[in-house]
Amino acid sequence: MTTPNSAGFRIGQGWDTHALVEGRPLILGGVEIPYSKGLMGHSDADALIHAVIDALLGGAALGDIGTLFPDNDAQFKNADSTVLLTQALTRVKAAGWRVGNVDTTIVAQAPRLGPYKSAMTERLATLLGVPTSAVNVKAKTAEKMGPVGEGLSIEAQAVVLLVAV
Ligand code: MG
Repeated sequence: MTTPNSAGFRIGQGWDTHALVEGRPLILGGVEIPYSKGLMGHSDADALIHAVIDALLGGAALGDIGTLFPDNDAQFKNADSTVLLTQALTRVKAAGWRVGNVDTTIVAQAPRLGPYKSAMTERLATLLGVPTSAVNVKAKTAEKMGPVGEGLSIEAQAVVLLVAV
C-alpha cells in the first residue's frame, strides 16, 4: 500500500542559541564575521550550523547534536562546527538520505548580517554537497525584544528536506 512517506521525503527542524560575549570570534555558517563579540560555547558555538545539524539529524530520526557531540566531551572543546556538520551528514547519508534543500533563519540584533548571507550560503552548500540554489540563509533582528533583541544572544533556526537515495 502506498503511503505518503513512501514518496521518500523527510523533514527536519533545528534551533539553537548561544550567548554573545566579548573575547570570542563570531562564527555563523562557518564564516567568521567581524564583530566586537562572539558566541560562547563548548565548541566554536556556530549556532547556525548547530541548527542545521539538528535539522539533519531530526529529519533522519537520528537524535540530536547533544547526543552525538556531548558538550562535556573534551574532544569537542572549541570544535570546528563545520567538522561536526560533515560527521552528522555522513550519518544521515548512511541512513539512506540526501539533502534536498535547507532553509535557515538567524535572529541577531547586531551585527548586521546581510553582507555575509551569501558567504554563509556558499559555505553551507559546499559542506552539504548541494548547489547554492538549495540553501537559503535569512537574517533578521528581534526588534530589540528579549535576550536576542538586547544583544545578549543570537538564535538560529533551520529546516531541511531529506530525499531518499
Ligand atoms: Mg549550539
